[in-house]
Amino acid sequence: MPRSSLAVDTVVVHFCSNVVADPKSPYRFDAITQTFRSGGVAPHYLIDREGTIFLLVDEARAAYHAGKGRLPWSPHRENTLNDFSIGVELMGIGTAEEMELFIPASRYGDIAVSDLGFTPAQYVALNRLIRDMEKRWPSIRHDRRHIIGHDEYAPGRRTDPGKLFDWSQLGLPATAGGQNE
Ligand SMILES: [Zn+2]
Repeated sequence: MPRSSLAVDTVVVHFCSNVVADPKSPYRFDAITQTFRSGGVAPHYLIDREGTIFLLVDEARAAYHAGKGRLPWSPHRENTLNDFSIGVELMGIGTAEEMELFIPASRYGDIAVSDLGFTPAQYVALNRLIRDMEKRWPSIRHDRRHIIGHDEYAPGRRTDPGKLFDWSQLGLPATAGGQNE
């Protein structure tokens, strides 16, 4: 659905992989985008391990990436974050505990250590993308009420981007919210 330039004020950071099907090779573009399709998910952007940014859905359209959830500082927008946000998926894998949604802990050890977490190139790309989005959408402020993790919108239901994501790489604190709370 098209939306106005005032509408978008939040960036939601996610992780994604095809680790369920292939723990040894969890970052295959085609397999990941197929996972999106079969799950009814459509983020605006996908950033691969090398920091290449893929545009999947135009920013001017709402996309299906956030689902149901709630932010304590805007309870009136419960379950409607897709309408106000841009979704960015980073190819990445969280902790064993976070990944239990997808794979049993017994298979977590099959994943190469270098495939866990996020890469320096991804942080560079994400920084660039967020700075660009902040220019295009003035309501996106560079703070932790406007740049959030999926796990902060849907705690208990979602674990991405999780503990391995380093918010300081974006110049932001680790915890969502702000001084006004
Ligand atoms: Zn997510």
